[in-house]
Amino acid sequence: MSDYRIYSIPPQHAGRRRVLTSGCRHATSEAQAAAGAQALIAARILLDDDTVSDSQPLLLDHGGAGGADTAVWKAAGDATPGWETVCHPAQWGTHIFTMPNFAADDPEQRVSLCPPRHVGTDVCVMAGHRRNAAMIALAPKLLLAMPTVSRNQAPQLGRSKGTWDCVDSAVRAGIPTLIVWSPDGGQRTPFRLFWSDDTTARMVTTHWSLRFLHARESAGSTANSRLAAHSISLADAAVEVPF
Ligand SMILES: [Zn+2]
Repeated sequence: MSDYRIYSIPPQHAGRRRVLTSGCRHATSEAQAAAGAQALIAARILLDDDTVSDSQPLLLDHGGAGGADTAVWKAAGDATPGWETVCHPAQWGTHIFTMPNFAADDPEQRVSLCPPRHVGTDVCVMAGHRRNAAMIALAPKLLLAMPTVSRNQAPQLGRSKGTWDCVDSAVRAGIPTLIVWSPDGGQRTPFRLFWSDDTTARMVTTHWSLRFLHARESAGSTANSRLAAHSISLADAAVEVPF
């Protein structure tokens, strides 16, 4: 059996700040790649804080799904200085029947074990979930998620299910989570950053520039007040203040 601990933190990544990304493998358009790059700028603005003097690049964890998920976030990382991308491929050929012998302080101690029916099968259908759980266990400061269909549509269309699962897991783990979303993939409707949980709401509303942006949008909108309460414009959130 391969060692599950392929996800363990290499020494050069210890203590570094990380952002986890999860995107639908159907996110293929240039608009989506551009939104990814903007989301990274917004994430940096959100995470930058005067009390942290960290000159090292932020780590951008992604699942390396091999499709456009990776393409979007890789392009975004390449287009946005200050990031170092880290790929966490799912171990589709590895079943985990016994708990690996993790160190007591290892952040990846909790592993979902395979059921007995996996014995003798070539592909582990739990590998993607296990990979996502491992990335969440790395304690990212933020999850940026880019689904291409809504949560309600995901099961019936068979798209973005892994992305929404990742959102749910991150929220359960108390990790701030922003959903980069446009209902038409940015073709006519600009992308916005959405959140659904209190941790993320607090993070946004305690950050001085995003609080200002959020308050301005909430005050200016009546028809969209419910929308404005839980989201901000991606383009506006990604404007870096030049001082
Ligand atoms: Zn398995």
